[in-house]
Amino acid sequence: MNYDVIIIGAGPGGIFAAYELLQKKPSLKVAVFEAGHPLNKRLCPIDGEKIKSCIGCKNCSIMSGFGGAGAFSDGKYNITNDFGGTLYQYIGKKKALDLMNYIDKINLSFGGEGTKLYSTAGSRFKTLCIQHDLHLLDASVRHLGTDINYIVLENLYSYLEDKVDFYFNAPVESVKVVDGGYAVVCNQGTYSGKECIISVGRSGSKWMEKVCEELNIPTESNRVDIGVRVELPAAVFAHLTDELYESKIVYRTEKYGDRVRTFCMNPKGAVVNENTNGIITVNGHSYEDPKKQTDNTNFALLVAKHFSEPFKDSNGYGESIARLSNMLGGGVIVQRFGDLIRGQRSTQSRIDEAFITPTLNATPGDLSLVIPYRKSLFVRKRESL
Ligand SMILES: Cc1cc2nc3c(=O)[nH]c(=O)nc-3n(C[C@H](O)[C@H](O)[C@H](O)COP(=O)(O)OP(=O)(O)OC[C@H]3O[C@@H](n4cnc5c(N)ncnc54)[C@H](O)[C@@H]3O)c2cc1C
Repeated sequence: MNYDVIIIGAGPGGIFAAYELLQKKPSLKVAVFEAGHPLNKRLCPIDGEKIKSCIGCKNCSIMSGFGGAGAFSDGKYNITNDFGGTLYQYIGKKKALDLMNYIDKINLSFGGEGTKLYSTAGSRFKTLCIQHDLHLLDASVRHLGTDINYIVLENLYSYLEDKVDFYFNAPVESVKVVDGGYAVVCNQGTYSGKECIISVGRSGSKWMEKVCEELNIPTESNRVDIGVRVELPAAVFAHLTDELYESKIVYRTEKYGDRVRTFCMNPKGAVVNENTNGIITVNGHSYEDPKKQTDNTNFALLVAKHFSEPFKDSNGYGESIARLSNMLGGGVIVQRFGDLIRGQRSTQSRIDEAFITPTLNATPGDLSLVIPYRKSLFVRKRESL
């Protein structure tokens, strides 16, 4: 066997798995295989001048490489069981919270010291939200910021690089069961390990489905989140973001009873493109450094959808909606809120007339041609926010 443990994927899952294994047993031989680049080579070609929008790189530097999908994210670490994952279903709520606090300590010791921890505890917004039929979820949020998040990742890499064998630009093609462990095949050869951890995130989910099928590992259909990213002048949301930074506010739609939530707020941030296996979608970034901040705040409005029998491919459903937007807009579509409500397509001149300038260069269009009617109903409640 080449290794004691092989880890596939160098996102937070893979990085912290390697870190923890070496804390518990420093003598372990550990390898990490990552489809993307090392952190310092993760460069998106969009420069806002020559290249203004996503050109569909084969290996998206925003989505993959050391640090995973959130490497350039806002670096918000939500310490809560109320949203963001279901780890507590496997290990209980207390243990899940203890683990989140443990990760927080590691982040602080690797460069996050001095960053702010926000909390909804005792916030006056709870009452205000309920008065408007909205519900503010409980959480503490550590905000590292895009810049400090990067530094933490750099420091984690420096700590790990001489203890772990990293294979970059090495998408694993297959995983096979061999005598005494597993063999992984990639463009750099075949390597074996006694144990194998697969932590390939969203960009690797399709591939992982295939591996599970080949290894007879049962899978369950998970939920898919459908939504839009909303951008508004930072001053409009300053009362919320100054106190809470990130607020998860939920409401239930009248007609279908869908739970709609705000997600991933980026005060004074920017909307960015991301490319997952050729499908262009958006996300948000924001910096701690005031010099890099913008005049806008952005956040996502999402509805989760669970499918039951016979349809299982929730990811495929989400992808189809994103594909439709890509088909109509040649990439991401932007629409003024007023235009969406009036049932009118946005045009470049109508975008230019607005009091807010979008931070992302996207195609003006009509989102009602993309988002299913049921899902579009949630956007209206935005007025209450
Ligand atoms: C722009 C953005 C902002 C975000 N902001 C936040 C935030 O502020 N706070 C927060 O909590 N969460 C945030 N998230 C979500 C967070 O990034 C994810 O929850 C987290 O990255 C999941 O970690 P992971 O290790 O499971 O997967 P990922 O981070 O997706 O990492 C998986 C890695 O596996 C690699 N991989 C895939 N297939 C293969 C293969 N076959 N072989 C080898 N390698 C492979 C990928 O290249 C990738 O680097 C954000 C996500 C994005 C995209």
